[in-house]
Amino acid sequence: MTRQKGSNPPEKLTVLGATGSIGTNTLDVIRQLGGRDRFEILGLTGAGNVALLAEQARELGVKLAVTADDEKYAELKDALAGSGIAVASGKSGLQEAASLEADWVMAAIAGTPGLEPTLTAARRGANIALANKECLVTGGDVFISTMREGGGTLIPVDSEHSAIFQCLEPHNRDKVERIILTASGGPFRTWSREQMDGVTAEIARAHPNWSMGLKVSIGSASMFNKALEMIEAKYLFDLEPSQIEVIVHPQSIIHSMVAYTDGSVIAQLGCPDMRTAIAYALTYPGRGTLDVERLDFAKLARLDFEAPDEDRFPSIRLARLALQRGGVQGAVLNAAEETAFHAFVDGKIGFLHMADTVESVMERMNDGRPADTIDAILAADAQARAYAEDVIRQKQKAA
Ligand code: NDP
Ligand code: MG
Repeated sequence: MTRQKGSNPPEKLTVLGATGSIGTNTLDVIRQLGGRDRFEILGLTGAGNVALLAEQARELGVKLAVTADDEKYAELKDALAGSGIAVASGKSGLQEAASLEADWVMAAIAGTPGLEPTLTAARRGANIALANKECLVTGGDVFISTMREGGGTLIPVDSEHSAIFQCLEPHNRDKVERIILTASGGPFRTWSREQMDGVTAEIARAHPNWSMGLKVSIGSASMFNKALEMIEAKYLFDLEPSQIEVIVHPQSIIHSMVAYTDGSVIAQLGCPDMRTAIAYALTYPGRGTLDVERLDFAKLARLDFEAPDEDRFPSIRLARLALQRGGVQGAVLNAAEETAFHAFVDGKIGFLHMADTVESVMERMNDGRPADTIDAILAADAQARAYAEDVIRQKQKAA
């Protein structure tokens, strides 16, 4: 982890994935912390939601607005006609946005499409506020070494990792025994496998505590989000697999903890609101003043904890396997899970089949391949998606 820079608040910002759940929260934080009076927002990117992107771009007076969808280019161009804002689209447009001279870049594109633009921003030395966990899950070593070469600071945005980042004492880094990632347990925390069999995406997306994008919400129900976060933690904080613990904490008040060799455990707490983690990433190493709900300990009454049940939630076991095996297994887990997630949302496979699919693909690709280049990672990603599609077709036939 690089923590050496960032003593001054950034002035020039770019938000990749501005129209999503993290993106809109980021813009809210930017507004709360001074908006255009304090920051120059250079680039915003989105994909399908061009109307919102155009509105954001006009409001913040950005230089460049990019839709990832080439077919939406004309619509975005029309929506920004007369504004003086440059417009681009597709992968090259995303690269253009990532290449602008912003000194702080929010990486909040959902999924694997976030990898290459975030790497571009990292390579030129921008400080990266990382929401897109897939960057680390698929290509952790490559991403971290690119950050090091670029010289920017990597600041986690995922609430658990922001918590750990806040609890880590840089001078006691060698005294960290383990980190404890908290998980809400999602809407099916107390359900049996039989009850989970047959649930729809509508039911699975209803998160008890956090309001998030669809992928993260379903991933919270299956605990695949936590699986990705275990791998994310390994690369962010340079940990051994045995140092990464998960504990179910249904209230989502403790966002994660660091345990030290003297028996001390430091936790970070707050109401479940991503804007706190986003603001920390923007103001690090300082803090801003944010209008979010405050914790009221008198009302809290209790905090509960339980060990995750790896039989009902095999995702945690699969993450451990991927951590132990290393190489492209993280990329494989991520790609198979993303494919299985889409199949579940489209009603092609059941909720429990997501983990089965991921496990089959991980086994099929357990050949010790290293994840040492972007090409190796993208090749493993593509192959895992194709294998996952195979598994999904077989499951559909069998159903
Ligand atoms: P959303 O689905 O809400 O938003 C995703 C963003 O990416 C949108 O701006 C979307 O554009 C854009 N996008 C979609 N497809 C593409 C593509 N192919 N190429 C480029 N851009 C694309 O996701 P979230 O905000 O929930 O999550 C973003 C990232 O942050 C994920 O990696 C997630 O794991 C992580 N994260 C999210 C948390 C949360 O609370 N939501 C918490 C912690 C981490 P459009 O909407 O215009 O189609
Ligand atoms: Mg999280």
